[in-house]
Amino acid sequence: MSLDDLNWLVSNTEPRATKMIQHLRAEGIAHEELLALMGNLPRHKFVEPAFSHLAYSATPLPIGRNQTISQPLTVARMTQWLLLYARLGRVLEVGTGSGYQTRILSHFFNKVHTVERQQWLHLQAKQRLSSMGVKNVEYLFADGQTGWPHKVEMDAVIITAMASKIPLALTRCLKPQGILIMPIDHPSPQIGCWRKEGDRWKRLGTEAAFFVPLLEGMEHA
Ligand code: SAH
Repeated sequence: MSLDDLNWLVSNTEPRATKMIQHLRAEGIAHEELLALMGNLPRHKFVEPAFSHLAYSATPLPIGRNQTISQPLTVARMTQWLLLYARLGRVLEVGTGSGYQTRILSHFFNKVHTVERQQWLHLQAKQRLSSMGVKNVEYLFADGQTGWPHKVEMDAVIITAMASKIPLALTRCLKPQGILIMPIDHPSPQIGCWRKEGDRWKRLGTEAAFFVPLLEGMEHA
């Protein structure tokens, strides 16, 4: 870390991160390890540089390629559901984006598989997390709607882009009793948490939230 980085962290990040954590607590995020992790993660390194001064605010921010990182509360809510309900073995994330959610997942799960359809974001996130010493993540540049290409079953699937219905292929790579977290725009934009019970889905939680759309195909850098 350069001296500039260090000065920035000392003079700016700490109070803003503390405020962010207070806000998360006030909104019902109670998992202490998650709060400690989010309080220590340099969120300003995951957003477009022009927006780094807003990185700890309760707002979604640009991460490049017309994509956005969710506001901290949405990331915390989705993660808290996983911590409450999922086995923390293997998780599939569709929509690597900046890698912020990936970084949080990597702290709690043994193994993270993350897929991104924008090559530029895929490469940036991979480099960012590697430089932070994150080792238990497999990155894939692909359309994540078809699931993970190898036959591994997931304890949880988290989709960080919004769709109208659950992509079937993704449900197939979930273990029985696996947890699915995704934003869905029907009947109104919201994030939801479901448990796979045979061929039924038991809804465990929902909350209003807005996301960029889940898109088809891949975009090269
Ligand atoms: N979790 C991210 C936020 C990502 S925004 C973060 O913490 O920064 C949603 C991301 O999903 C975007 O990067 C977008 O390119 C990606 N995406 C959309 N449709 C996709 C698809 N079918 N497969 C893989 N990634 C997709």
